[in-house]
Amino acid sequence: MEKTLFEKICDREIPADIVYEDADCICFKDISPQAPVHLLLIPRKPIPRIAEGGLGDQALLGHLMLTAGKIAREQGIAGDGFRLVINNGPDGGEAVPHLHIHILAGRQMQWPPG
Ligand code: AMP
Repeated sequence: MEKTLFEKICDREIPADIVYEDADCICFKDISPQAPVHLLLIPRKPIPRIAEGGLGDQALLGHLMLTAGKIAREQGIAGDGFRLVINNGPDGGEAVPHLHIHILAGRQMQWPPG
């Protein structure tokens, strides 16, 4: 099966501005930022989208959430606040079929989201 764009970033086949990585996940700057801080946190395992995560992914998904908080603290955005977004499927606005958490910060977020 062909690698997803984000697998290629994990494998350093496509360049990215990486801000964090560990054995299970990697976080890099979004190429088209929608806020002053816009990061993408992805598992190295190519789970296509959150609706396709399985019970075997429980620890990994928990790790991603905790890591999002850790990155927010490290990036200095935890105090003022930030938003985590996961787009799933066409109506959710998903463009890349490799699970990713958007970490957005640096401006007042609106509600409801567009
Ligand atoms: P989504 O619409 O939730 O699937 O989000 C995909 C995100 O990937 C978008 O915010 C894009 O700007 C971002 N993106 C696409 N290609 C790259 C890339 N090569 N490096 C970093 N971010 C990318």
